[in-house]
Order: sequence, then C-alpha cells, then structure tokens
Amino acid sequence: MNHTENNSSSTQSPLQGVGGLISISQFYGRDSRFVIAGGGNTSYKNAEKIWVKASGSSLATITEDDFAVLDRAKLNLMSEKGYSSNPTEREEEVKNDLADATITKGKRPSVETSMHNVIDYAYVVHLHPTAVNGLMCAHNAETDLIKLFGEKALYVEYTDPGYVLFKKVDDKIKAYRAKFNEEPNVIWLQNHGIFVAANTIDEIKSIYTEILAILDKVAIQLLDVHQEFPPSGGQGASPSDVLPSIRMMLSNESLKTLKVRKNELIKYYSESIENQKDIAKPFTPDAIVYCKSNYIFLNGETSEEILVEATKSIPTFTEKFGYASKVLLIRGIGLVAVGDNAKQ
Ligand SMILES: [Zn+2]
Repeated sequence: MNHTENNSSSTQSPLQGVGGLISISQFYGRDSRFVIAGGGNTSYKNAEKIWVKASGSSLATITEDDFAVLDRAKLNLMSEKGYSSNPTEREEEVKNDLADATITKGKRPSVETSMHNVIDYAYVVHLHPTAVNGLMCAHNAETDLIKLFGEKALYVEYTDPGYVLFKKVDDKIKAYRAKFNEEPNVIWLQNHGIFVAANTIDEIKSIYTEILAILDKVAIQLLDVHQEFPPSGGQGASPSDVLPSIRMMLSNESLKTLKVRKNELIKYYSESIENQKDIAKPFTPDAIVYCKSNYIFLNGETSEEILVEATKSIPTFTEKFGYASKVLLIRGIGLVAVGDNAKQ
C-alpha cells in the first residue's frame, strides 16, 4: 500500500487528503481541454475509505458534499465475488453492493468506483479529454499508443462501462504489476478515456501535462482543425435560408436553440456521403450521453434541396428513434447542435 497514513481532511493542508481531491477536481473540471460538459470522475483514498465523485455532481464546482465515501473493505470483496451472468441482473447486484459499501447514504457513487478502488494510488483522476479520445477512437489506437508512449502504456480494449469493464481493468492491472513490478500511473481505455493516478496531485498534473503535450504535437502534425473555413461564395445552401426552418421543424414541444460550427474537419464530412459513414455512430460514452447515438445528414446541393430533405428526415428520425435529433450535419452549412438553450 502506498497510502496507509490516516487522513482527516480538517487537519491537512488544502492540497492533501480530501482538500487535494477537491482542488484537483475543480482544476480539471474548469478546463475544457479535459472536461466538456460532464464526463469523468475523481477519487481519493486512504487504507480504509475512498472518496469518489457522486453521480450527478459537476467537477468544476464540486465540494466535499459532492463525494460519496465508501468502505474499501466492502469494495475489495466485490472484485472476487461471483455475480449473475445476466447483464441486467449483474449490474443490479453490483449497484446494490456499491450502495451497501457507501457510508454517506443517499449519495450515489460513480459506476466507475470499483476501478478507482483497485488502483493503488491515493489520487485517481479519470477523464474523457478530447485529445485523449482522438487517439483512443483512432483505427490503430493500441499501435499508435505504444508508438507514442512506449511499451509500458496500459491499454484496455473497448468494453461497455460497468462490472465487466472493471474486471477487465482489474485483470490488466494485476498483469502489469506482475510484469513490471510496479503500479501503473496511467490506464488508457479505448473509445472512452483515461485514468491517471498518483500519490500527490502535483504528480497527477505533471502526468496529464506531459500526455497532452505529446498528443497536441501529433494532432497539429495531422490536421489544423482550428482554422475556420472561409465563407463559401454564391453557390450552395445559405444558413439564413435553411436554419430558421430547420429550427422550427426541430421545435416540437419548446423552441430549440441551434449552434453551428464549420471548419476543415467538419467540411471533410459534410461534403462527402462516403466520409459520413465513418461518423454515423458515436465513438464514446460521452457522445451517447450528450449527442445520442444517431444523427441526421443532409446532403442537398441548394437551400431548397436541403429543406425538402429535412422535411422528410426530421420527422422520420424522431418517429424511428423516439427523440429529436441533437446533431445534424448539413452540406454547405456545417455541424448543427440542437439544444433547449445555448448552454445545453
Ligand atoms: Zn469514464
């Protein structure tokens, strides 16, 4: 154990113990390179207890009250326990055991709590940063990861979040300990995100800084996605002709807000039906949570053609999937996000 000292948040400096956890959670929660909307969770543990972000709280504004405290002896039993092979029953049993291990009753700990518990460092910061998922959602994620970060990079193939993912990570950590005789600081999850763990928050920060520096360098070499695409002249669909009507078509119960973005990367997809096949389904759990799993692609050459297409596609989509589309990609216009308000 690397962290057997007995911690009480009141007697320590704000950068240790639970104070450190609050500080590092807010630090990353407020930085959009690391956290967009929600997504991710953090923890601090001593030998007996673990403080982990409760479901529904936001990292940017988190306080001690927003952490669930759990009994680690009870959590440890969950790694070895046999659960039902039926996924629905299993997740229910796991949920009940997590609730039973929770000391702060009424606070629902993150579903990723067991993963936090098995990592033998005091602090764990699990995030879904865009730069990390750029790599973790790539075709050759594992090969490229090893190329960039070396043989010791710990990679976990995609698994739906829940007990099965936890067991997989648990097994990978055990194999890593056996092979390298040390505890991994970083765990990479395909199509999901990353766990960074260390005994101090300064170490966590330096690991994240180094990872982002390496990924940023590669991303810049690949494609300059920051460059805004110049407005197209004359031909093609015009936003002022198309967007007000599309907004009305999407506003069934309440008036929706649309946000439009256009750049080289978006153009690569909006102007080619062939390329759209690559982004027809979500890459990460965050995308499913915030954007859902299906999107509308409108490929008309003119404003008129796009509106005709939208008149059919928007109601058909809502009927088929049971929700109004949150994302549309429109040729000549760009990527359109749909929400009840601008913040959403
Ligand atoms: Zn996650």
